[in-house]
Amino acid sequence: MKKRGFLLAGLVGAGAILSLVLAAQVSGVADATASTDDEARGKAWWAHVQVLADDSMKGRLTGSPEYLRAAGYVVRRFKEYGLAPAGVGGSYYQPVHFIEQWVNAGKSSIGLVADGQAQPLVLGQDAVLSSRSPEPQTVDAGLVFLGYGLHLPESGYDDFNSGEVPGALLRGKIVVVINGGPAELPGALKSFARTSPMRRAMADAGVVGIVSIPTPKSMDFGWDRVASSASQPGMWLAPEAGDAEVARRHPALGDDHSPMFAATFNPAQAEKLFAGTGHSFAEMLTLADAQKPLPRFDLKKRLTATVVTERDAVVSPNLVAKLEGSDPEAGFVAVSAHLDHLGVGEPIHGKTIYNGAMDDASGVATVLETARMLGADAEKGVRPRRGVLFVIFTAEEKGLLGSRYFAGHPTVPAAAIKADLNLDMFLPLFALKKLHVQGLEQSTLADDARKVGAAHGIVIAGDPEPDRNSFVRTDQYSFVQAGVPALAMKFGWEAGSPEYHAWRNWLAERYHSTQDDLSQPVDLVAAAQFNAFFADLVRAVADDPATPHYLESSFFRRFETGQ
Ligand SMILES: [Zn+2]
Repeated sequence: MKKRGFLLAGLVGAGAILSLVLAAQVSGVADATASTDDEARGKAWWAHVQVLADDSMKGRLTGSPEYLRAAGYVVRRFKEYGLAPAGVGGSYYQPVHFIEQWVNAGKSSIGLVADGQAQPLVLGQDAVLSSRSPEPQTVDAGLVFLGYGLHLPESGYDDFNSGEVPGALLRGKIVVVINGGPAELPGALKSFARTSPMRRAMADAGVVGIVSIPTPKSMDFGWDRVASSASQPGMWLAPEAGDAEVARRHPALGDDHSPMFAATFNPAQAEKLFAGTGHSFAEMLTLADAQKPLPRFDLKKRLTATVVTERDAVVSPNLVAKLEGSDPEAGFVAVSAHLDHLGVGEPIHGKTIYNGAMDDASGVATVLETARMLGADAEKGVRPRRGVLFVIFTAEEKGLLGSRYFAGHPTVPAAAIKADLNLDMFLPLFALKKLHVQGLEQSTLADDARKVGAAHGIVIAGDPEPDRNSFVRTDQYSFVQAGVPALAMKFGWEAGSPEYHAWRNWLAERYHSTQDDLSQPVDLVAAAQFNAFFADLVRAVADDPATPHYLESSFFRRFETGQ
């Protein structure tokens, strides 16, 4: 039986955090054999989180001085643990250039026109404009409902070229799409189709804009959080980041920055889009919830918008360190997490700092604990066969930009990176019995994960909710697009269990909220046990005599083989 040590810092004032850590409450069933080591290691892990998610770090926004200060902490730990610099120019840093954009919602407007009648929409209530891509200043175009907006002709599924709406009819139109996809398509495929192929299919079809409607099922939090996050600046890689050149080498990795109208529509207001078509949003939602195919049809109205934006240039670094392996020919295993978070924003519960303690100070802390453990091995002359590359990304919250830049411009030869193990809010909220591993069905890394899981008494399971697109929503996906096998993992639960509800509540209350801070309850013993598992997984992948590779059956194998 595992002993649970819960940190209940929320019960006291913020000033007393240190004494609280020392007096961490222990609840659950006491077990005479439970390891005091786990508790000590849990506290050491939490100590990193305490530094990185402190209010003084102001939410570590990409490009901010506080992000750089947090980066300084990480680099000092890399040195302390005996890691060599592996960034640019003999440093631990890899600077990345971005364009930052704000939408001025006060000066922008959006509306519908049906049967010659103008119907203004309220920004924030009905829809929000995307700050993540260059938007045209004005738009006036017909709306077409395009179902899930998935373009997968090889699987016989293509919303862009269906009988009802041939591709040619999309030229000059704004498409409206719903999150999700039909049940017969594997989750990985739907996830992939929602990224660059959708944008490319839209550009090829001459589409001028996209309006996406999240289904309530696909939303991790309510519309008010979507609306308040719209005031956040968006970003993309600046021309000097050389993304266009990367796109030529790795079509999957490059992005298209041509201006395109992009907005998210509030599902509670979405009937406005469907009125007068003979279809309703409710009907589409029922089909989407059942993962049934969706019809495509003309929405018989136009969308007009004026979009006012402001832009700035920003530089922010990735951090890279390495431990050499015993066989220089065997390459590296990358271990990664992201340091950036959302900075300071709209108040939630009277608080404006988005600390990002779990997202993803917790992942960075585990990378640091892994570095400490493997650094100590190396000190004793114990090195795995492959080297280990410790990579901390910037601009994950801006659309996986730091990792995309690193995957396109690796600081070691690209072919030397054999695998990536990524950590992004693995959420040690309860005892560690099970891990949900994203990418498990795709590569030989699954064998390593299962072997190490068995040794640690942890059940290794696939992603139970593939429609949340988690596999393409964090940094491992940049490695996947560059052909590198990757895994990411989170604490697992059984559907309907108390753990499931704890996880769901965390998403609803804390995810991308000011409440993801140091006052939340975290199971430090479980975190320490996870860290021990993770370090062993890194060792196992680094020692594996066979080079990690995608399975024949994997959809993502195409990026590895370049086919
Ligand atoms: Zn996040």
